This record gives sequence, C-alpha cells and structure tokens, in this order.
Amino acid sequence: MVRLDKVNKYFGSLHVMQDIDLEVAPGEVVVIIGASGSGKSTLIRCVNGLEEFQSGHITVDGNELLPYGKSGRSLQTIRTEVGMVFQQFNLFPHLSVRDNVTLAPIKVRGLSRDQAVQIADRLLDRVGIADQADKYPGQLSGGQQQRVALARALAMEPRLMLFDEPTSALDPEMIGEVLDAMRELANDGMTMMIVTHEMGFAREVADRVIFVHKGRIVEEGPPETVFDSPEHERTQSFLARVL
Ligand code: ADP
Ligand code: MG
Repeated sequence: MVRLDKVNKYFGSLHVMQDIDLEVAPGEVVVIIGASGSGKSTLIRCVNGLEEFQSGHITVDGNELLPYGKSGRSLQTIRTEVGMVFQQFNLFPHLSVRDNVTLAPIKVRGLSRDQAVQIADRLLDRVGIADQADKYPGQLSGGQQQRVALARALAMEPRLMLFDEPTSALDPEMIGEVLDAMRELANDGMTMMIVTHEMGFAREVADRVIFVHKGRIVEEGPPETVFDSPEHERTQSFLARVL
C-alpha cells in the first residue's frame, strides 16, 4: 500500500528524513514512535504529500510522489485516497457535525447530499456519536470532536489512514474512547500508520513498531520485540523514559 524508497528531506540544513525506506502492506498497522523532533510527523506528512521531499520516491497504492512536489495528478489521487487525523481536530467550527462529515464526499467525490448524509450517519454511529450529529464542534468534548474527525476522514472511503498523535491533545479520560474507535478500524482491516505515545495501545494494535531517531529508522519489528527486547541503545533509552 505504501512504499518509501531512500527518501531524504531537509528543512534548510536540517536533515529530517535520512534515507528512509519503508513498506506498509495492505491491512497492516504500523506505529511510529520516537522522541519529539525526531521526524515522525514529517514522515507521515510526506506520505500524503503535505510535505515535499528532496530525493527518493514514495508510492501510495500505485500512485507515485516525486521529489520537489513534482507529482502531478497522483498528488490529487493520493489526497482523496488517504485519510488523516491530526492532534488538533481541525473541524470546521461553523458546520454541524453531520456537515463536517458530508462536505468532502459531496464536494470532492460528487455524492448527492442524501447519499452523503446516509454515509455520515452510519459513520457517526460507528464511532459512537450518532446523537451529536446536529451539534457544532464547539459543543462537543475533545474526545467526541476527534471521533468526528475520524468519521470525516472515513467518509472519503480512504485506502490508508494516517494518524499524528490523535490523542495527545485530549484529557486523559477521553483518550480511551478515541483509541477504541481506532482499534475497531484496525480490526476491520484498515491500513494504518499511527504516530502515538500510547505504548499500551501500540503494543496491542500494531503489527509493526518503528522507532525513529534524528530522521532515521533505527529499529523496527513486532511490538513484543521492540518493546521487550530492543536491540538499539537509542530505542532502549527512549523506552526507558516513556514506559
Ligand atoms: P516529530 O513529529 O517527531 O516531533 P517533526 O517531524 O515535527 O518531529 O520535526 C522534525 C524536525 O524538523 C524538528 O527538528 C522540527 O523542529 C523540524 N521541523 C518540522 N517542521 C518544520 C518546518 N516547517 N520548518 C522547519 N523545521 C521544521
Ligand atoms: Mg510530531
């Protein structure tokens, strides 16, 4: 579903992605961990073309992204096939919950309003907030808003879902409800790349854990291996600090 080949990215002189090679299989759940500033967000933002890179290439479901944003139509295709959930929910504050979810399917996929509403209501039910459909984002808790953001992304029927610290802005008591919705999505077979500091969740849901340090993948493997017997000294010291 996703392949990165020798991807390099710089912010000025800062080498934030260093020869990143990574493949994600259909249905696989990959969790990316690492210290703040190690390049996790940059890595997943490159996958849907939110960041340009300077060398290497990235393929998503057969669509190729090229260096310096020279990707042409495949960028548009990738944007419609890849859903993303951010730390900040980024909902449209002036639209109801239902309208947040129907907007892109109507505007981008050309669905009728009736079709889009049907899909939206089913997805809002799936993430446990069917009863909030007529409210505005500001009237919802953080956990509810993040589940709206998830439903909104799913309404585009993505082939791949990217998550960048989806629970980091939430009060502790709301983290579980968002992770539950993500766990269900993983169980349904969605291909997912997830940046998170929720190590218990990572251990349980990830097929593979990737540890990033200073723009490099220094260790990867099944969660049991990475968490219980990490090989690299950097991974060991990171885990000692967060576990
Ligand atoms: P992480 O998500 O692991 O915390 P990021 O991918 O956000 O790390 O950032 C990696 C490095 O790139 C950090 O040193 C950060 O300060 C830098 N960086 C991120 N975005 C930009 C940007 N738009 N311009 C310049 N530097 C950036
Ligand atoms: Mg980040």
